[in-house]
Parts: sequence; structure tokens; C-alpha cells
Amino acid sequence: MGSVLCEHCTGVCCRYIALPIEKPTERRDFDDIRWYVMHQGISVFVEEGDWYIQFATPCKNLLPDNRCGVYETRPEICREYEADECDYAGGDYHYEMQFFTPEAIEKYAIERLGKRGVFTHPPKAPQRKSNGSKSNGSKSNGKAHLTSLKVLTHRG
Ligand code: SF4
Ligand code: SF4
Repeated sequence: MGSVLCEHCTGVCCRYIALPIEKPTERRDFDDIRWYVMHQGISVFVEEGDWYIQFATPCKNLLPDNRCGVYETRPEICREYEADECDYAGGDYHYEMQFFTPEAIEKYAIERLGKRGVFTHPPKAPQRKSNGSKSNGSKSNGKAHLTSLKVLTHRG
């Protein structure tokens, strides 16, 4: 950020971050993405076959006039960003797909998995006979997998 073009822009590239995620192949993968996009400001997109989660959240250094408040010490990723191919310039970004809603990812999951991609009416789990034991409450936290996200590719 910092070119003449930026003077006419509202700091589009400074208002989100995007991180790579695994390409979904299994029902659980799609269900995880369904969970992501249930959150405010979250979308998932595909670019050149790679999948990313995007968080629509402005950088805290973005000033009211859309300039960078830490321009001299801004992160490398901000320095590397080319204004002539940026979000505002309509550069070399060709999202093959972008999902904003659970319904959208479910539709895609059905295309890929057939009935197994249906989440709104999931198949009933088989009934198990009780052996009298109780859960110890130590079930795994499905949210923990977020920590496995790879290195960021924020464009801002
Ligand atoms: S999106 Fe482009 S024009 Fe806008 S601030 Fe970022 S680099 Fe500058
Ligand atoms: S630090 Fe980077 S993302 Fe934040 S306002 Fe400055 S150029 Fe934008």
C-alpha cells in the first residue's frame, strides 16, 4: 500500500486476512467449513485450486483516512503487496469459488459427496445399547484443528 492508486482506495487490502486451509474431501471437512462460514465476516474461497479461509476484519493500523498508521514498520507481507495487481486494481485474483453461507457449502458438498453432503437432514446415528457408563466429558474439541492452519497469506 502506498502507491498513487492507494490514494483513491479505501484500504481494501487492509481489511481482511486470508489463510490457506486443506482442500475438503470428506464429509467432516465440508462440515468444518460449514462451521467457519456460520461466523460473522468469514468466507472460504478457492484460488488456483487452493482453499483459503478469509476473515473480514480491518487492520488495527488502518487510519481513518485509509492510510497505514505504521507505514515505516509495516510487516513484510504488506511491503510485498503489489498495488498494480491488488484488490482495488482488480488484479490477478480469480476466485474459482467463494462461500459465504452454510447453505452454499452444503450445496457444493452435495455435488461432491451426494447424500453424504447433506447436513440439514443428517442420517440418524445408529442406536447403541447403553453399558451404564457415563462419558468422562473429555471428547475432543473439533475447534482445535484450526491451530493446524498453515502460514498466512494475508494480502494486506
Ligand atoms: S487495495 Fe490496492 S489500491 Fe487499495 S490500499 Fe491496497 S494496494 Fe492500495
Ligand atoms: S500494517 Fe499492513 S495491513 Fe495494516 S494498515 Fe498498514 S499496510 Fe495495511
